[in-house]
This record gives sequence, C-alpha cells and structure tokens, in this order.
Amino acid sequence: MPHIVVVGSINMDLVTVAPRFPAPGETLLGHRFLSAHGGKGGNQAVAATRLGAEVHMVGAVGDDAFAQQLCEGLQQEGVDISHVVRIDDCSSGTASITVAGGENEIVVVPGANAQLQPSHVAKAQHLIAGADAVLVQMEIPLETVEATLRMAHAQRVPVILNPAPAQRLPTEWLQLARYITPNQHELAILLGADADEDFRSLMRRTPCPVVLTHGAEGAWFREQGEPQHQAGFAVEAVDSTGAGDTFNAAFAVFLQEGLPAAVRKACAAAALSVTHLGARGGMPRPIELDTLLA
Ligand code: ADP
Repeated sequence: MPHIVVVGSINMDLVTVAPRFPAPGETLLGHRFLSAHGGKGGNQAVAATRLGAEVHMVGAVGDDAFAQQLCEGLQQEGVDISHVVRIDDCSSGTASITVAGGENEIVVVPGANAQLQPSHVAKAQHLIAGADAVLVQMEIPLETVEATLRMAHAQRVPVILNPAPAQRLPTEWLQLARYITPNQHELAILLGADADEDFRSLMRRTPCPVVLTHGAEGAWFREQGEPQHQAGFAVEAVDSTGAGDTFNAAFAVFLQEGLPAAVRKACAAAALSVTHLGARGGMPRPIELDTLLA
C-alpha cells in the first residue's frame, strides 16, 4: 500500500442548473441545485485512497458550515485529515457553477486555500519524508507549491506537480519535480511558449520528465529521448470533470511500477472516472481498474 501526501485545495462546488445565464442585475428561477465536494487536492486525495493508497491530505478549510462537511467527506473516504487546518474568519474554497444550455460559468473563490502556508507543509515534514510520492497542484499559493517541491526533493521523495491552473514557473522549480503532469494547454503556459507550438517539441524541451494528458486520446510521456504515447481506453463518456485528478492520483499510486505501467493504469483509472457524473462519482476501486486492464 503506497503512502501518498497530497498538498492542495479543498472546495465546495455549488452547481446551479438554469434555463439560461442571467443578465447583469437580473434574478432568474433555476431548475436545480446541487453541491459536491471538490478541489483538485481533495479530489486527488480521494481518488488515490479509492485505489488503495494510504493518503495524508495537507490543506485548509475555513470556519464556515462547509468546512465540517468537506472534512467529513474526506474522512469518510479514508483520507487522513490531521494536517487539514481550519482558518479563522475565512470561507472555505468554493466554486459557484452555473450550467445552462450545455455551457457553464464558474466563479472560484479560493478562501482558505489561499491561506495554506509553507509552515503548514513544514508541519507535515515527517509524513512527506516517509511518503512514496507527493502530489501538488496550483490552486494554493505558489510559495506553498515551491515549499512542497523543495521539501520533497530534499527528502528524495518523488513529487508530482500537476500544474493546474497553469502559470509560468521558474525552470528551477520544474527541475525539483520528479514529474509534471500538464495537459497541452497547461504545458505551453508553464514554459511561456507559443500556444500553437507542437506539444512533442514542448515535451522535449521541458526541464524535467513530463506526462502530458490528452483527453480521450490518452497520454504522452517522456523521461528522456522521444515522447511515447499511451492510448486512451474506450469508454462511454458521461462527465469528464475530475478525469485529470483521477489520472494524477493513479499515476502516483502506481509510480513504483515504472513510468509506462503507471501511465497505462492512470489512463485506465481516468477513463473509468468519466463514465459517471461528478468529479468523484466515477473514481474507481482496484477491482474496477483490474477489470478494465484485464
Ligand atoms: P484535463 O481535464 O486535466 O485537461 P484530460 O482531459 O487530458 O485532463 O483527461 C485526463 C485523462 O483522462 C486523459 O489523459 C485520459 O487518460 C482520460 N480521459 C479523459 N477523457 C476521456 C475519455 N473521453 N475517454 C477515455 N479517457 C479519457
């Protein structure tokens, strides 16, 4: 059972289904409302736990009603939340999503996620030192991402940086990551490259090993030499929310099996995740993954 530490965001997604988007100043009657636990950090922690890993989450929630629900949601999945801190006078991270006519509008308020400090990561140093892999994304302050990269690197623990949402990062930071896992769009932003530059050429000049997710087509990966392709698994896609998070989690869980095997299993797990509604709805358990891989 691999030990994984996830340093990242925890959000409550608030989804309203409406007949159309309201105009500024307009009040509209919607069709339906639902809330769902999300945040890239929380999602990756849950996906890794479902696949059988022992997962410690380093994150932050506010002092509102969502905080307890979000923590309970993680705990019920079996994620250790002893390093999820509560921030006073602060809201928990939220994503207010309006869905209308097959399109969506999203406003994310980072709330407590923006208060996750390097000092919070330092308190989990002993867990990071004993981990098989560390996962970090970019919905938390950049200095906390940097602190995580430096700490894991110093302890010789492989750290997987999922650079989403993408920003340009210093080359030195990328060199600290064991792998980065962008999609094509994110890789271009991360390197400050032209959006239309061929992704294979971007992969060749990335200063660290890279695993590039490519939607239904699967993933490309490169440690050195030429980028290699892993085909996607054919499934009936229902909702691709959380596919990237499931991919990252599975990649971390199976990393010890080597790069090609980990990418193959990550593609399979992510394919299963798109067969159900919601980010966490389709995150598979080992038995479902084994069935798809058989
Ligand atoms: P992101 O949403 O972060 O851009 P992708 O859309 O590239 O991520 O999806 C991540 C991974 O999920 C892909 O590499 C692929 O393995 C899997 N995946 C996504 N969509 C599908 C699909 N329709 N069918 C099968 N696998 C998919």
